[in-house]
Parts: sequence; C-alpha cells; structure tokens
Amino acid sequence: MKAYYKDLVNLPGAPSFEKYVKKYMKNQMTPNVESIVEDKLGSIFGVLNAESKGPRVMLAGHMDEVGGLVTGIKENGLIKMINIGGIKGDVFLSQHMIIYTDDLEEIPGITASKPPHLTKGKKEDKPLKFEDLLLDIGADDKEHAEKLGVKIGQQIIPRNTYVVTKDGKKHISKAWDNRFGCAVSLEILESLKNESLPCSLYAGATVQEEVGLRGATTATALVNPDIFLAVDCSPCQDSFDGDEISGKLNEGFLVRFYDPGAIMHQGMKAHVEKIAKENNIKFQYYKSMGGTDAARAQLNNEGVVVATIGMPARYIHSTTSMIHENDYQAVRDMVIALIKSFDQKTLSEIKSNV
Ligand SMILES: [Zn+2]
Repeated sequence: MKAYYKDLVNLPGAPSFEKYVKKYMKNQMTPNVESIVEDKLGSIFGVLNAESKGPRVMLAGHMDEVGGLVTGIKENGLIKMINIGGIKGDVFLSQHMIIYTDDLEEIPGITASKPPHLTKGKKEDKPLKFEDLLLDIGADDKEHAEKLGVKIGQQIIPRNTYVVTKDGKKHISKAWDNRFGCAVSLEILESLKNESLPCSLYAGATVQEEVGLRGATTATALVNPDIFLAVDCSPCQDSFDGDEISGKLNEGFLVRFYDPGAIMHQGMKAHVEKIAKENNIKFQYYKSMGGTDAARAQLNNEGVVVATIGMPARYIHSTTSMIHENDYQAVRDMVIALIKSFDQKTLSEIKSNV
C-alpha cells in the first residue's frame, strides 16, 4: 500500500476538523491533476480530463472520522466530552486519547475508568455513553488544564497505533473509515493522470460524512456529476456472527445492493457485476443498515447514478479497525476498471436498465 494510506490515518480530523487532512490531500493531488475544485464546506476534488465529452464522474472518500469534542473542564481538571459521529461509550473506556489544539499541538490523556477495587460489590450501571466518560490529561485542576491549552470545542481523537499483522496481510489502524477512501482517490489520480479516459474525473473527498452526509450534498452540487462512486469502509461481521451478506475480510469489495438510504441502481449493479467479472475482481454482496455519501449524491439535481464500492473493515467507529490488503487491491482495481468503462454509451445503457 502506498504511503498515502498510513499518512492519512495518522492525521486527526473529526467532522468539521478536516483541515489537516485536506491540506495533505491538496499537496498530494496537486502534481497529478489539471485543476482542483473545493466546495464551501471544505470538500476537495482533483480534476482530470475536464474537457471530455464523456460523462462527468465523481469519486469520493470522506475526510472526517468519528471522535469527540471538549465540552467543559471540571474543577478537578478532568475534561468533559461529547461524541461526533456514532460511537459506543464502552469501547472508549481506559483509552489513550489526544486533544488537538487549533495549531495541532497534542494534549494526551486517558479516559477515566474505575479500577475493580473501587467497584467491588457494586452493580454495574446501564451501557456507558461516550458523553458519560471523562478525559484525564493529568491536570491538577481546571486552571491547570486551561494552562495546558485545553479550550471548549477542541477535537478529541484516539491515539493511533498502526500495526501490520504477523502474516503481513492485515492493517490495523484508527480511521480506515474513511481515510481509506481518501487515499484511493489520491492513488487513482496518480495512476490515471497519463491515461486517455472516456470521461472527466473528479476524485477527492468530502467533509462531515459521519454527521449526516453533509459534504456530499455540497460537493455534488459543485461538481454536478453524471456518475458518483463512493469508496467507503463498511463494518464486517465475520469475526462475530456474520452471514454471507454481512461482510468478510479477504472476500473482495462490497457490492452494497441495499442500505436504507440507497437501493443500488439496477443498471449500475449490472454494470458493476459485469466489469468485476470481466476483470476477475473478487466481490461480495453486502446489505448495510448505515449509509454512505452515495445516498445523498443520488438525489442531486435530476438524479445521479451512484454506487458505493465498499471496503470490508472490522471494528470501525471505535479506536481502531482492521482491513485486508487483498480487499484493498480489489477496491482499487475495480475503481480503475469502472472509470475506464464510463463513456456516454455505457452511461445510456446503465440508465436504460431501470
Ligand atoms: Zn465512512
């Protein structure tokens, strides 16, 4: 995997705090693109083949990750927090977290957890909410915490430990959801920059996906695509009680035929299956109860043909997650094969198949 992937997951970027991720995206795409477009919320896309008479194709990851915000400082110096994006409190007990100041200075801490000595004989409470947790940065009192740089509204992100498993195949990190999609966009721009494409390509990433697909709304209004591909990580259930449509590592990219916000366009579904088979790219069907930027993009103007090219990932929306290199290759190969297939004739065929 190219350096984009590791570089991107190591950056902090809760929803609306995508500044440093965006800066990285911009620096990396600049040498490979004709131009760069940005919406007013912060989404960013590099453009190839802008003058094409073919369809306008948009490829999007999202730059934000689930995290927290500082909502207060207690008199004893502990930090109050709320979550942004869906996370469960119990996953965040006794975890290393970092508060980031506006200029990316780090204030490390751990989420306070009562040792068993203090809870012996007491009944455990109902499931923990993230906002019930307190972050201990080692401040002696409120004034001390302020002196250390804490301010209300700062983002809080888990400390990352990037690990490759012993077999060399799986990569464990925070924020695969969805710096993975951001990195795919960068890699695709780099690989296609010298190719003659049958379409124009806008590849990049949105902001604020985790809080309601907000950047997808504004970015699609800006680009006005004919076709929109979201690349995003979806949770696999294969280490629990999964079935054949709930995602498995090493089974290829996910054909997300159903989620509550987007039932896959039947013409696009047939096209994706055809291209995957022609190119020998492994895929699995996937039903999700969540949503991706594709759900919002499909409703732009008079409608956009969308697909989510899903990346299987275990344990997302927590402090860390796991992906498989073979699935990464399947996603990347599929995105390239699809983009190369999108000419006007193919778009008409896809559209006529509903
Ligand atoms: Zn995501």
